[in-house]
Amino acid sequence: MSSCPSHGLMPIAQAQTRLEQAGRHQLLPVETISIYEALDRILAEDVIATLDVPPQANSAMDGYAVCCDKFCTQQPYVVSQRITAGVAPQPLLDGTVARIFTGAVIPEGANAVIMQEDAVVAADGTVSFVIQPDAYDNIRPQGQDIRQGTRILSQGTRLSPAAIGLLATIGHAKVNVYRRLKVMFFCTGNELVEPSQPLASGQIYNSNRALLASLLKKLDIDLIDGGVIPDNLEATLDALQQATQQADVIMTTGGVSVGEEDHVKAAVNQCGRLELWKIAIKPGKPLAFGYVHETPFLGLPGNPQSVFVTFAILARIFLINYQGQRDGLTPQFALIASDFAIKKAQTRTEYLRVKVVHGSDGLRLIKHDNQSSGVLSSAVWADGFAVIPAGQIVSQGDLLAFLSFSSLLLA
Ligand code: AMP
Ligand code: MG
Repeated sequence: MSSCPSHGLMPIAQAQTRLEQAGRHQLLPVETISIYEALDRILAEDVIATLDVPPQANSAMDGYAVCCDKFCTQQPYVVSQRITAGVAPQPLLDGTVARIFTGAVIPEGANAVIMQEDAVVAADGTVSFVIQPDAYDNIRPQGQDIRQGTRILSQGTRLSPAAIGLLATIGHAKVNVYRRLKVMFFCTGNELVEPSQPLASGQIYNSNRALLASLLKKLDIDLIDGGVIPDNLEATLDALQQATQQADVIMTTGGVSVGEEDHVKAAVNQCGRLELWKIAIKPGKPLAFGYVHETPFLGLPGNPQSVFVTFAILARIFLINYQGQRDGLTPQFALIASDFAIKKAQTRTEYLRVKVVHGSDGLRLIKHDNQSSGVLSSAVWADGFAVIPAGQIVSQGDLLAFLSFSSLLLA
């Protein structure tokens, strides 16, 4: 296990690379599904357009299809046909125009559309025009959006609503995607009580179960909720080993720290191996990654805020790579001026929960007063994280890297 020599902690970038590589090592089977079921699934093939889009030139306006080569303004024209969307037109008769509507196919012999606002219809039904059209005016040419034979989507893309719309545009009803990743997750801790149950002294409500389930759902993961493991080694070993029969990945919260009641790490060491532990991240230092037998294992810390941060910054990378995602892996960040100062440098990179506000001289980041790892209120209040690298102090006005929750799929 390599680590940062000065503090015994592994730098975040190194942990992220290791998690990405470990995720890419895994492979899920491919299945063919309807595009209507494909939202957020990961494409397992390159998609090549089998036709031009639009398939034929069509009108961008309601108006008149004309041949602008021998065209005269003010001259009355006979309307020789009426072309609505969805019908195949006749060739345009010489010296006439065609009434045409948006999306209708341009007839052979016409090369421009004049919008109806520039047309004057006489009592006898003939039409004259107040403008001289140029060739291709108001025509959407064949193949303007997509050319047959081009790759329109790449393997490893997470299918967005727009991508699914694009598949429909080229007539694909089905699509090859990777099977959904199956994650079995457990919470650990004798102090935990389910919401709705009475709370005795010393107990707290189990917030991680709902939190982690929701985070996993955002990534379109197939969940198996393993419930709560009591704080003892036997029960932990049992739960982890049983999970290997059911899931692609095992996740836990709590019990990965160094106390005598933290049994998760010891259990993984007994029935598998730990590859990462103790990362230079604040909050969330005791995040663990390894294998239970051959099943990948992610042990998140117990504090709910640490679950939120380590999921966003570390666990997510392993999970999306295992899902097969290869596009959009790196969340976009913005550089925004800080509205606060940090005088004491940290030994770990800190992910502060911040909000973006409009100041008098542009955008500013304000931070929540309570950045404690025990509370979730700051994550509900915030729009994202401000990243404060280890060893840095911050002065008011400094530009900080801002990672929005939406870019991390947490919003
Ligand atoms: P641990 O790492 O197990 O020592 O947990 C660290 C802190 O997080 C302790 O204060 C725990 O009570 C708390 N914690 C652990 N699991 C949960 C959970 N599922 N929901 C809420 N708090 C938790
Ligand atoms: Mg515990």
